[in-house]
Amino acid sequence: LTFDSFGLASPILGALKAAGFVKPTPIQEKAIPHALEGKDVLGIAQTGTGKTAAFALPMLQAFATEKLHNRRFSTRALVLAPTRELAVQIEQEIKKFGAGLGLRTVLVVGGVGRFGQVQRMARGADIVVGCPGRVVDLMNTRELIIDQCQFFVLDEADRMLDLGFMPDIRKVVAVLPGRRQSALFSATMPSEIAKLANSLLREPVRVEI
Ligand code: AMP
Repeated sequence: LTFDSFGLASPILGALKAAGFVKPTPIQEKAIPHALEGKDVLGIAQTGTGKTAAFALPMLQAFATEKLHNRRFSTRALVLAPTRELAVQIEQEIKKFGAGLGLRTVLVVGGVGRFGQVQRMARGADIVVGCPGRVVDLMNTRELIIDQCQFFVLDEADRMLDLGFMPDIRKVVAVLPGRRQSALFSATMPSEIAKLANSLLREPVRVEI
């Protein structure tokens, strides 16, 4: 199996080739076809398995095929990660594969000034990748509006739990529209995460490696 068999838009395929991605990893092989059909995904996978592309490629394909409608100033996809480093890596991967799609991606993380992030957001952010603390901060001030967000990813959910982000995650999920596609990735599945998955995913496909 190669990436060609997923029917991805040519700008995405071109970017995959340029990055030297030829064969999908096992988690990608299992998750991508379901996510491309619009299904919610519960992914049990560690970092290093290629889980980022497993959620990023279907998300970008949805933009490429205009399943994520272009409302110029509303954020249509939100990815939450537990740490700034991980958020940076995810944003880079999304930018790499989405380079030909004309999307605006904004990183929303703490520990750096919020001004630049707010400015970028004001110009319109199709995709926001961030950590829960700063995301909720900008939601509270209405500088980040996610009520039109149709694609939601929670990455490394078990680490989110360990870092005490559950209250922030609940605030985010409460504001997301009911009509959306979601994915939750976690290396482990403690009962709190299973409960969270139950509340935020709709008839998810469970993929495990
Ligand atoms: P991740 O688990 O998403 O952090 O990915 C781990 C590393 O593997 C990253 O450097 C990715 O860019 C790379 N990677 C992910 N999927 C593939 C693939 N199908 N082919 C080659 N490299 C990949």
